[in-house]
Amino acid sequence: METTEKTVVIQGKEMTIEDGYPVRVSCAEHVERELDDYVDQYEVAPDTYPIEQVENLDLEKTCMVCGAEGRVVLLRVKEM
Ligand SMILES: [Zn+2]
Repeated sequence: METTEKTVVIQGKEMTIEDGYPVRVSCAEHVERELDDYVDQYEVAPDTYPIEQVENLDLEKTCMVCGAEGRVVLLRVKEM
């Protein structure tokens, strides 16, 4: 049994994070750079959500680039 599925609650709905795609947190300033990096590395654009709409995030809610307050979450959720 695969038990490695990660879920996150977005806008009150439980979503499954797609395997192999990371979850990134960014401040307002670094969103564009994070988007570009994501597309470069994974060849897909991530979904983006305001951080206040994302619950049970298993991460620090600070920008992964500069450590400032996180504003946006970048991730890929599995289409149901
Ligand atoms: Zn930043």
